[in-house]
Amino acid sequence: MKLLSVNAGSSSLKFQMYEMPEEKVLISGVFERIGLNDSLYTIKINGEKIKKQANLKNHKDAVRILIEELLTNNIIKSLDEIKGIGHRVVHGGDKYSSSIIINEDVIKTIEDLSTLAPLHNPANLMGILAFKEQVPNAIAVAVFDTAFHQTMPRESYLYALPYEWYTHYGVRRYGFHGISHDYLTQTLKEVLKNDKPNLITCHLGNGGSISAIKEGLCYDTSLGFSPNAGLVMGTRCGDIDSAIIPYIMNKADMSLEDVMSDLSKKSGYLGISGISSDSRDIEDGIKNGNDRCILAQHLFIKRAIEYIAKYYVLLGNVDAICFAGGIGENSIETRMAILKGLKCLGIKLDEQANNVRGEFKLISTKDSKVPCYVVPTDEEVMIARDTYKLIGQ
Ligand code: AMP
Repeated sequence: MKLLSVNAGSSSLKFQMYEMPEEKVLISGVFERIGLNDSLYTIKINGEKIKKQANLKNHKDAVRILIEELLTNNIIKSLDEIKGIGHRVVHGGDKYSSSIIINEDVIKTIEDLSTLAPLHNPANLMGILAFKEQVPNAIAVAVFDTAFHQTMPRESYLYALPYEWYTHYGVRRYGFHGISHDYLTQTLKEVLKNDKPNLITCHLGNGGSISAIKEGLCYDTSLGFSPNAGLVMGTRCGDIDSAIIPYIMNKADMSLEDVMSDLSKKSGYLGISGISSDSRDIEDGIKNGNDRCILAQHLFIKRAIEYIAKYYVLLGNVDAICFAGGIGENSIETRMAILKGLKCLGIKLDEQANNVRGEFKLISTKDSKVPCYVVPTDEEVMIARDTYKLIGQ
């Protein structure tokens, strides 16, 4: 059965087509700069990458070209072969605790939840509607980035704010990157041969989050009401004292909008280093003795250690810790610094094993109190799996 896994952003659309249940990737690609000048797309078939220019006025143009490519490359012979389309949707609020087949009600709810995710849900919807129009017979499924975190108990998801802010306005921790944390949890369940493990899953990319998994379910997570909480990220500040916001508005004569934009787009690695949001540039800066890069990395590492340590204590015992995401999978130095900082918990890094990028590996020593792994995450396959499960074989 052929299924598409889709991730639509405001100016991009990523896709992978799978043969299920084998989970074989038939074609993948990304459309970029949709609605902007110089739009283009890249497709990958049989290990070969092809880049093409295209006039992409909107997501519908991207879907039209995607269908043409599927047909001309003989991936499908007719549109009816596409049985399902799984869409990543960032915010499912507290309404969705698992993936769901999309109908008019679901579309309306995703639209309503745009007040909680103004940058993401409208873009996700554009993708859903473009496919609905052009591949009307395929069953569409929404796979939410918040759903996995819906098992958090109240003491994890509530903020110590007036309770009515939660009941009237939905102010609570939702968490994000749930599709990745779910994948990491499923993978470690298999590796550990344990259906109910206690885990700490670290998704460290340009955006980052760490989750505490208790008996196989999400117990707590570092992202919160918005995707700007918890860890130090590429351009996002993570946890800060809320009093900074009115203070800097007054002192720097900035609008609330500008302050919020700086907290998301000019903070994190970029804000502290003054150079880049990319961890590779930070690592280069450190090698060249750049003090601001050294400081940015210290802040990043310290915050990650704080979250892992607090989740370790809350979980009581931990069966495994894992690292995923661009930084978690590739930055040998970052993993080493975090795990060395956790030495007092009996965690012992195997430095030789840690010398690895982008592949599954046990990176702790045999006598480490907690085994630590690199687990390349795969959000696309999770979307395909949920879609396959929901539409039935
Ligand atoms: P993501 O958002 O998961 O794509 O991750 C992006 C982050 O991963 C950026 O900060 C990249 O610098 C980082 N990254 C990707 N590849 C590497 C690498 N080989 N070494 C260090 N960091 C990397």
